[in-house]
Amino acid sequence: MELEFVGAAREVTGSCHILRAAGKTIVLDCGLFQGKRTESHEKNLRLPVPIEQIDAIVLSHAHIDHAGRLPFLVRHGYNGPIWCTPATRDLCAVMLADSAHIQEKDAEFLARRGKEPVEPLYSLRHAVRTIELMTAVPYRRPFDVVPGVRATFIDAGHILGSASVALDCTEGNATRRLVFSGDIGRSGLPIIRDPEAPDGADVVVMESTYGDRSHESVEGARARLASVIRETAARGGRVLIPAFAVGRTQELVYDLHVLARAGAIPAIPIFIDSPLAIDTTSVFEMHPDVFDHGEDLVQKVQDLFRFDLVRYTRNVEESKALATMHGPIVIIAASGMVESGRILHHLAQGASDQRNTVLIVGFQAEHTLGRRIVERRPVIRVFGEEVPLRAEVVVINGYSAHADRAELSSWIDRVREHSPRLRQVWLVHGEPPAQDELATALGAKGLTVGCPLPRERHEF
Ligand SMILES: [Zn+2]
Repeated sequence: MELEFVGAAREVTGSCHILRAAGKTIVLDCGLFQGKRTESHEKNLRLPVPIEQIDAIVLSHAHIDHAGRLPFLVRHGYNGPIWCTPATRDLCAVMLADSAHIQEKDAEFLARRGKEPVEPLYSLRHAVRTIELMTAVPYRRPFDVVPGVRATFIDAGHILGSASVALDCTEGNATRRLVFSGDIGRSGLPIIRDPEAPDGADVVVMESTYGDRSHESVEGARARLASVIRETAARGGRVLIPAFAVGRTQELVYDLHVLARAGAIPAIPIFIDSPLAIDTTSVFEMHPDVFDHGEDLVQKVQDLFRFDLVRYTRNVEESKALATMHGPIVIIAASGMVESGRILHHLAQGASDQRNTVLIVGFQAEHTLGRRIVERRPVIRVFGEEVPLRAEVVVINGYSAHADRAELSSWIDRVREHSPRLRQVWLVHGEPPAQDELATALGAKGLTVGCPLPRERHEF
């Protein structure tokens, strides 16, 4: 039995690993590489393994750095099963279609600018076919990925439908359990359940995104969200929140619902200005079975994402009309890193008004407009125009969906407690400083830890 690390090896995007066991080849995740355009495009064009060798694919969750290259495999002829949870399949239906759309738009944009043409990785047709190949299996129900490899999804508590996967690989008389963590979430995140720890592992492939960092608490984030809205409303301003349409927006709406019921925020209109967020909210509403039923709001309220203050704006006219509204309001719009989407229109209009607040709730990568806002540059460039940044800028990092250093450590402790045969931990999905710090910490607990490079292969 052998593991080969292809993507998210010493980096955070392009999650993809190859499991060879029982004479078969199984691909675990196939996500997009993101980052500098040319470099990531080249990586995205490389097939992880010749298509005809792939017997099955297992997908941990719907984030684009885990699922975003599946339609590319389909475009190149992949026609086999893709196993995932029901919520992951439904989120992928929204996200892969959006990904195809973005790629086509990007290609058009570059062509218009006279830049070197970039062919989209895939089109909507391939995204649709990918969804058709998906077979959804609920948590904790074992299934045969291929003969000799039996898998079970365990709730990873990261986004709706996210899973860690336990894979029991049998060759002759020997069975070994490989645990692939997927992305590990956090206790107390709104809506979704807390991460569970698989047991009986011989080998663990584990994410390490925030292996060197600590997050603000989830409760602290909610309290700060309330105070930002109260203060901005008191001075008659707008709260502009750039947010990823899938997951983060629903968490914010849920938290605003909790705060509104508690009377912790003033009764001002809250606009969710994103068609993708509307579609994603519908997917959430289809899967109440995987919500955290220990949470008060989940127990008491039927419509978690619809309450009297919240309005969803789908079409462009409704979105434009927000510009002429008077008085304090909250606007949540994509994109999360302020690179595209309707949030740009709201910033072009609102960034120069010192009564307003730009509230940053997600990670902002280098070279993005979001990062320049976090750095509080005096002037930002929106649609090619210079806009003075006079609005207040507030950053809340407690909404991260990834476990931090202490939470990763406690996850592996829980796995280990019920895994007497655990021999090896491979760290993936982390930049080198985060991986090295986590590797040292886990090594000090007596675990054998490795941080594989791309294309490294290991038997187990
Ligand atoms: Zn993720």
